[in-house]
Amino acid sequence: MSQSHQAQIDAFMAQVAAQNAHEPEFIQAVQEVAETVIPFIADHPQYAKHRILERMVEPERTIIFRVPWTTDSGEVQINRGYRVEFNSAIGPYKGGLRFHPTVTLSVLKFLGFEQVFKNSLTTLPLGGGKGGSDFNPKGKSDAEVMRFCQSFMTELSRHIGPNTDVPAGDIGVGGREIGYLFGQYKRLRNEFTGVLTGKGRNWGGSLIRPEATGYGTVYFAAEMLATKGQSFEGKSAVISGSGNVAQYAAEKCIHMGAKVLTMSDSKGFIHDPAGIDHAKLQWIMDLKNKRRGRIQEYVNQFPGATFHAGQRPWGIACHAAFPCATQNELNEEEAQALVNNGCIVVTEGANMPSTPEAIEVFNKAKVLFAPGKASNAGGVATSGLEMSQNSLRISWSGEEVDSRLLNIMKDIHSQCVAYGKNADGHVDYVRGANIAGFVKVADSMIDQGVV
Ligand code: NDP
Repeated sequence: MSQSHQAQIDAFMAQVAAQNAHEPEFIQAVQEVAETVIPFIADHPQYAKHRILERMVEPERTIIFRVPWTTDSGEVQINRGYRVEFNSAIGPYKGGLRFHPTVTLSVLKFLGFEQVFKNSLTTLPLGGGKGGSDFNPKGKSDAEVMRFCQSFMTELSRHIGPNTDVPAGDIGVGGREIGYLFGQYKRLRNEFTGVLTGKGRNWGGSLIRPEATGYGTVYFAAEMLATKGQSFEGKSAVISGSGNVAQYAAEKCIHMGAKVLTMSDSKGFIHDPAGIDHAKLQWIMDLKNKRRGRIQEYVNQFPGATFHAGQRPWGIACHAAFPCATQNELNEEEAQALVNNGCIVVTEGANMPSTPEAIEVFNKAKVLFAPGKASNAGGVATSGLEMSQNSLRISWSGEEVDSRLLNIMKDIHSQCVAYGKNADGHVDYVRGANIAGFVKVADSMIDQGVV
């Protein structure tokens, strides 16, 4: 990178850091974009003239609210609720809700900022937003989760709508929570609309939406491997997480002929050298989704496997790695271990799971590396397809949605290649995704004037 580009990036980031002190995750997400987009803007001065990047790092609106609720024993609890409406240049705000004790404004701003680029890449008319709460659904009864969701939606309902802002699930927000949130919105507004995605099949949900993020991530990885004339057949895969994204990434890996060696949760990871097959995965889905158990219970059921408490799975040798749990869960040392053990492709199912230092290791080693904003965009893309079905009041078959998802992932991959291919043929998917996502939003912002 030239010295003048570096100076521009440093000046821009100093300003962002000063205006967003105490928001490390948000600053990290902006830094990654700035490093690739600022050199591009230098060759396209219209974006500098309209101060597009400066406007894009400022959310259009941020809502923070009190969420009071009562436990089953009648105790009053207070959590904090958020919705960050980041950018609506190309469509209504769209992005998930996260319920987890680690939720802060910084985390939601990083997720909302990334969402703007991701949604642009899907080719669908979706703006970017994100929201959630520091509420922890773990260990709560269904009735407590319901009361929390009803209280959260009582305030959120003033700010969202099918043409304004359409939230979905994320960590801690699955089908159960979306159901309670939707029920309360409908009751308050007295209207049945597609205001949330990830809905149940009987009340406006789309087939394949639960599978879409995991499936899409593996479709994207298959496209990456194809650039090297390779496929998943006979390859080994290491997956972190055991939630929605991890489960369906595992299912698609197995389906495509790979051997899945690991899954994890926040307490540690399981390693099954024989491979997690369809039947074992079904057992995990039952454990996590119905019995709400912990991944370590796997080793009691399948004795060939081992549980590694407090550790992450990146030390296990594999061809393909899929971080599918949370942000900053794969660091420099772990990236080096993956490279040393022969990993050739790293595809993010989670948002920003690799630290900047880890990404640097992958780049140096010329490992195929895809950032979540490109590779996990299948979830929001299928949410976009759910919105289309709701508007048309029709329901597509699973095959129809899956084939649209596959085509969208191929399209995102092509956009990344178009903007990210280096002279030596290696594809920098981070640069490709950032620039391709940026251009569509930036051009729309210019068209719409200074708003
Ligand atoms: P889930 O809540 O279904 O699962 C999350 C998984 O990650 C669980 O196994 C959980 O373990 C683990 N996890 C969560 N927080 C931590 C932590 N701090 N440290 C270690 N492990 C952790 O969420 P999803 O599968 O929906 O989301 C996973 C990732 O994918 C997130 O980054 C999310 O933003 C991203 N994503 C999700 C999409 C979706 O459609 N759901 C769309 C695009 C991106 P435990 O149970 O122990 O907490």
